[in-house]
Amino acid sequence: MNVHEYQGKEILRKYGVVTPRGIPAFSVDEAVAAAKELGGNVWVVKAQIHAGGRGKGGGVKVATSMDEVREYADAILGMQLVTHQTGPEGKQVNRLYIEEGADIADELYVGALVDRETQKVVLMCSSEGGMDIETVAEETPEKILKIFVDPTEGLDRAEAEDVCGKMGMPSESISEGADFLAGLYEAFVKSDASLAEINPLIVTGDKRVIALDAKFNIDSNALYRQAEIVEYRDLSEEDSNEIEASKWGLSYISLDGNIGCLVNGAGLAMATMDIIQLYGAEPANFLDVGGGATKEQVTEAFKIMLANPKVEGILVNIFGGIMQCDVIAGGIVAAAQEVGLSVPLVVRLEGTNVEQGRKILDESDVKLQTASTMADAAEKIAAAVKG
Ligand code: ADP
Ligand code: MG
Repeated sequence: MNVHEYQGKEILRKYGVVTPRGIPAFSVDEAVAAAKELGGNVWVVKAQIHAGGRGKGGGVKVATSMDEVREYADAILGMQLVTHQTGPEGKQVNRLYIEEGADIADELYVGALVDRETQKVVLMCSSEGGMDIETVAEETPEKILKIFVDPTEGLDRAEAEDVCGKMGMPSESISEGADFLAGLYEAFVKSDASLAEINPLIVTGDKRVIALDAKFNIDSNALYRQAEIVEYRDLSEEDSNEIEASKWGLSYISLDGNIGCLVNGAGLAMATMDIIQLYGAEPANFLDVGGGATKEQVTEAFKIMLANPKVEGILVNIFGGIMQCDVIAGGIVAAAQEVGLSVPLVVRLEGTNVEQGRKILDESDVKLQTASTMADAAEKIAAAVKG
């Protein structure tokens, strides 16, 4: 689950990481009121969307008067913000964060994530703040310093101070820098994050160390024990199909292609997406109906796929183990009757109760093609959407 920058900063502050003062705003008037409440003479108006690169896309503006706060809030709120992380269609801005302007002497980078190889949390630290860490990793990997944290020992203070010096903090800032890393590590662990990225953290003119941006991804499997973080969930940032699918207990991820896929088992779903591409089409989604899906779940899965205007064809690929082919067939027929089947459908069934499943399909008036192998199925659906 993703959270907004201002929410990430709330998490950070709980663990002693210093951030600028700021107030979220949902309207232009609220933005102006927030700036007045903050006081001072420089404010930053920041779009809150679940994507980075907002500054370059025009979603972060520095204001030096109340008129400018109003002007920028008015321009950013409601805009379709396009960044390298949103895709070309961009994301609509529904929230702002009004923050006091910081006096930036240097922009640095720190990100926390779990390193699979060492099974430890790693803090990636770099002098190259404000840049994409992927670019730094590719072009100047020597500028990324890594601290692997032993989960039983915690962050080593001396190592943290050493890295703060090496990433370019002046000597007066190093103790605060080490506090910063310790706070970030604690915030990461205690909030069950899978990623926490501060880009940039800054050293100010008076040598303080402050988080200027915050990106948190929280491990969805841990949300049952993160009640406060669940409150941060912003459904308007999430894919409506994915929300609908999760209500029905379906593992569904939207993709950009034209073939809706209904598969059981994540491995088979991956293989199905691969083979569709081999035959020249693209999957519109990853959908694993799981082992014991009911007829109702299969029907809902069909409705979700058919509601997507990009879907030009549907491929059902089921290997019935615990999942029974007749249940899938029943779901297909029910969905076709309920919503009408507007696109070509190819079905490949194999395994438990396959004969009953085929019979249900044969006896229905649903228009479909059957396939005997995965390759056959992929070839047929790719041909069908090409017309
Ligand atoms: P994004 O990474 O989405 O572009 P950031 O929060 O990193 O958004 O902001 C982009 C840039 O805007 C920062 O690198 C920094 O230079 C500037 N900026 C952001 N917040 C402030 C602030 N409170 N004071 C001064 N400058 C800021
Ligand atoms: Mg940033």
